[in-house]
Amino acid sequence: MKIKKPLQELKLSVPVQETPISSFLTASGTFHDGDLRLNQKGLRLISEEKESQSSESKELDFEFSKEDLEAIKVIGKGSGGVVQLVRHKWVGTLFALKVIQMNIQEEIRKQIVQELKINQASQCPHVVICYHSFYHNGAISLVLEYMDRGSLADVIRQVKTILEPYLAVVCKQVLQGLVYLHNERHIIHRDIKPSNLLVNHKGEVKITDFGVSAMLANSMGQRDTFVGTYNYMSPERISGSTYDYSSDIWSLGLVVLECAIGRFPYMRSEDEEERPSFYELLEAIVDSPPPTAPPDQFSPEFCSFVSACIQKDPRDRSSSSDLLNHPFIEKFQDKDIDLGILVSSLEPPVNYPR
Ligand code: ATP
Ligand code: MG
Repeated sequence: MKIKKPLQELKLSVPVQETPISSFLTASGTFHDGDLRLNQKGLRLISEEKESQSSESKELDFEFSKEDLEAIKVIGKGSGGVVQLVRHKWVGTLFALKVIQMNIQEEIRKQIVQELKINQASQCPHVVICYHSFYHNGAISLVLEYMDRGSLADVIRQVKTILEPYLAVVCKQVLQGLVYLHNERHIIHRDIKPSNLLVNHKGEVKITDFGVSAMLANSMGQRDTFVGTYNYMSPERISGSTYDYSSDIWSLGLVVLECAIGRFPYMRSEDEEERPSFYELLEAIVDSPPPTAPPDQFSPEFCSFVSACIQKDPRDRSSSSDLLNHPFIEKFQDKDIDLGILVSSLEPPVNYPR
């Protein structure tokens, strides 16, 4: 039963005269003082109860524009642009600001911002929230939920390999995100890879950059132009055939196997110099038998999970919802495995604040 909280007394402190009114007014036109917000939507009290809500129902209670954000530091660089840690000047909340440079026509830009607005509606705790997007000086900026332990790529750079119980916890959360994208939003992610799976100190794993690769491709006028890495691309996709949700499952299988064995599965050794060229990779993915987990080093459940994902024929791959019930995921379900402890014991990627 929900217990009603006693009414809280509202106290509005009027700014003293020497303080310029602009320091209380955010650039988006919200008057802000302590817990109080006043904008065109009316007067609202952001109670402590609301602020301590779990990330599962995170919703911003304020609007903002670029001017309301102050840059703290660069936290990542990708092929499409730079990711900065920023703080909302008035509320103190940290965000990741991803800026993607693109010189495109006005019409396409509007289309992209429109697509991003649709993406902002994400209602899944395992998909990084995009709170806001805007176009400025030839670049599209995305205000994203800040994940304070970076990406899975940062994690494996430090730990080299992730043990099965932790991997099961990672996989379960990624699969929950994929079930949401595939079954509820009808979206193929297209770019599942370690750097697009983000982690926070609570041990939450969330998928990011969905739709971004398609957006970049669109902006270049060709839907199938790809910006980024081909490493995790399914055979049907890398060879230019049609692909569907199961293409994301192939990528997930490769990511999971990489985390377990400590190297990209199509690489013969850990030596970066030996990274296959695009044509070697294409040939290996399309013509060779798919990579598998060595049964002498891993449990039968894990080996079976990997091969349920990495199948050359897309019809042989399990769906995201089937994989959620796979024995590998179920095996560690009730074991209380705390991924938060693992990631918090690592060096933060770039001294991330919390
Ligand atoms: P590519 O651009 O080739 O796809 P990428 O995924 O590494 O590669 P970005 O998406 O620009 O490139 O991200 C760069 C890095 O920024 C990530 O690897 C991650 O460490 C960091 N990052 C991205 N988004 C966030 C976020 N929301 N919170 C915290 N760190 C983030
Ligand atoms: Mg990314």
